[in-house]
Amino acid sequence: MSTQHEVPSYLTQKEIGPWGVYLEQIDRVTPYLGTLARWVETLKRPKRILVVDVPIERDDGSIAHFEGYRVQHNTSRGPGKGGVRFHQDVTLSEVMALSAWMTVKNAAVNVPYGGAKGGIRVDPKTLSIGELQRMTRRYTSEINIIIGPNKDIPAPDVNTNEQVMAWMMDTYSMNQGSTASGVVTGKPISLGGSLGRREATGRGVYVVGCEAAAKRGLDIKGAKVAVQGFGNVGGIAARLFAEAGAKVVAVQDHISTIVCDTGLDVAALQAHVTQHGSVAGFGGGDAVNDRSRFWEVDCDILIPAALEQQITEANADKIRAKIILEGANGPTTPGADDILHDKGVLVVPDVIANAGGVTVSYFEWVQDFSSFFWTEDEINQRLTRIMREAFGAVWTLAQEKNVSLRTAAFIVACTRVLQAREMRGLYP
Ligand code: GLU
Repeated sequence: MSTQHEVPSYLTQKEIGPWGVYLEQIDRVTPYLGTLARWVETLKRPKRILVVDVPIERDDGSIAHFEGYRVQHNTSRGPGKGGVRFHQDVTLSEVMALSAWMTVKNAAVNVPYGGAKGGIRVDPKTLSIGELQRMTRRYTSEINIIIGPNKDIPAPDVNTNEQVMAWMMDTYSMNQGSTASGVVTGKPISLGGSLGRREATGRGVYVVGCEAAAKRGLDIKGAKVAVQGFGNVGGIAARLFAEAGAKVVAVQDHISTIVCDTGLDVAALQAHVTQHGSVAGFGGGDAVNDRSRFWEVDCDILIPAALEQQITEANADKIRAKIILEGANGPTTPGADDILHDKGVLVVPDVIANAGGVTVSYFEWVQDFSSFFWTEDEINQRLTRIMREAFGAVWTLAQEKNVSLRTAAFIVACTRVLQAREMRGLYP
């Protein structure tokens, strides 16, 4: 990746990070947008950025301040939509990129949303449960002015969960004086959450994984799978692949890497992680000290399901998998994309592979508005159909234009967003 991109005045060239990756992806799709390319600059600028101070009183009486963000990248096709991340490495560039990938993702699977994302730079493991609640509520109050069931709908992401969504929903509702269940998705079932939402991202990864494997003539039964990240995405995807007869041969989390060529016992590993918070110390496999060795593992399907910019020019060449399923957002850099393409590795991009989460978020939002709730079977069937159709459309376009699945997904999505942009016209 060599292109120098225009850096917005609020980021330095050094800080361009994931946003620079996204801009490169937009440059790659622009030649395929025809006359809509006239509007492409829209995609290179977030619509709205809110940076907030989040002060809380710590349990010991001291005051701590955290920096929080909510970025609405685009609302041409509908309200902003996207998760909230609590992580010590959260930056504005990262939240901008994540919000833009939500725009592309929502359009790629054709759910009626724009794209948004939020985050707080904090290691939530350093907070007590009370501190976490106070931080979540203060953050929600600070972004209250731009979120809402028809404006921008947050959801879980890295280190946020149903409980955090419940606090966000309650805080927003208290501020406005009535319960607004549709303001966030990924809520507990008891508060208008949807069956199947918790598993949806991992299930979506599994569904497109089966589609991709079929295209490559790979049998899931006996296929070797390696997963980076064993949380809500990687853990569920690993379980579903194992249940379908695949062998999960390597799992890496933020602390440790565990391998077992004959296949890890995923249920036992899950139980271990629930108890200890990490795969570290799991007895049913071998620990590997050098983290970088994970990328060299002999496997058929590789699932990066942790953070951005993991597969880079430094390690792409070592990858032995036939298929990569991007459970994480932005795990592969454009330079690595080129290397993988030349090696013939099939990369199913994040904006398709992990779109199952926001798809069931959409179902949750629809159910909240109608106050009529669907069965888990209905949800999983609809999810599977949407994921298969999105993958199929992108696959066909990729063949037709002789481009990667990422570029094809961006063509489908950016065309939808910019058509909406053009039809709406500029105001005033
Ligand atoms: N955080 C998830 C994502 O990156 C889900 C977003 C949502 O459901 O709105 O796609």
